[in-house]
Amino acid sequence: MMNDYITVSRLEVYANHGVFPEENKLGQKFVISLKLYLDLSKAGADDDLTQSVDYGQVCRRVCDLAKSDTYKLIEKLSYEITQTLLDEYELLKAVEATVEKPWAPIGLPLDTVSVTVKRARHMAYIAVGSNMGDRESYIGTAIEKLNHTRGCRVLRTSCLLETKPYGVTDQPDFLNGALCVSTYLRPHELLELLQRLENEAMRVRERRWGPRTLDLDILLYDDVVINDERLCIPHADMKNREFVLKPLEEIAPFALHPIYKKTVREMLEELV
Ligand code: ATP
Ligand code: MG
Ligand code: MG
Repeated sequence: MMNDYITVSRLEVYANHGVFPEENKLGQKFVISLKLYLDLSKAGADDDLTQSVDYGQVCRRVCDLAKSDTYKLIEKLSYEITQTLLDEYELLKAVEATVEKPWAPIGLPLDTVSVTVKRARHMAYIAVGSNMGDRESYIGTAIEKLNHTRGCRVLRTSCLLETKPYGVTDQPDFLNGALCVSTYLRPHELLELLQRLENEAMRVRERRWGPRTLDLDILLYDDVVINDERLCIPHADMKNREFVLKPLEEIAPFALHPIYKKTVREMLEELV
């Protein structure tokens, strides 16, 4: 799907970005290039603009964006461009934006300086759990907030399952579920968002695997594998947890574990 793209080359905009006050006041030339990734098979077959994106409209939107705000950094402008285009054009799978600043005031002769940012949509599966207070409401509120966060759409939610505690067993029963989220947040950005939502649910970390108002764990993120001090994807223990695999199987039976090369359904069948 990432094979097709539309390129916009070197769109010139006069705007006011820069770290120096004179730059914000006088303005200068910025040159913006875009790579818009989308599946063009329908537009190509049917000669139909509604199956593609209108690059004229995109260019006008990008000019507006560059002119309507004043940023210190072209990094920030590039970020805004990629995110806004992904927000506003559902057909886009990914956007690469390059912002050049040919008149950058560094006191040395240079041809141009530029920043390139690429952002893509991903599919993430998230486990939700709660065993304190109004469990349903903690989970419901989190799903609602997630769906209203920039860059995140909740596409599917499983039923909530009443389950016995795992690991530490002298605590109340859990409600567990799973979500499918389309997001252009990167894995660590998604983790930060989920931790913010846990904090907003007044989660207090007392003991490992102890009672909590809300737990949000990333199970799968495309076929990405990460293992660092903050984040392990796929979730390290998912194949041993019925309370994770059962709701996940309801919404994504054929999602593939990128290391074991097994589907969620296969992992669940091996467990029960
Ligand atoms: P478990 O991860 O075994 O279900 P838990 O959910 O109770 O345990 P938390 O206290 O919620 O554990 O999180 C502990 C740490 O796990 C977090 O600070 C986070 O950095 C890290 N972590 C690693 N991988 C993930 C992941 N895939 N999703 C969420 N957190 C993760
Ligand atoms: Mg957990
Ligand atoms: Mg957790």
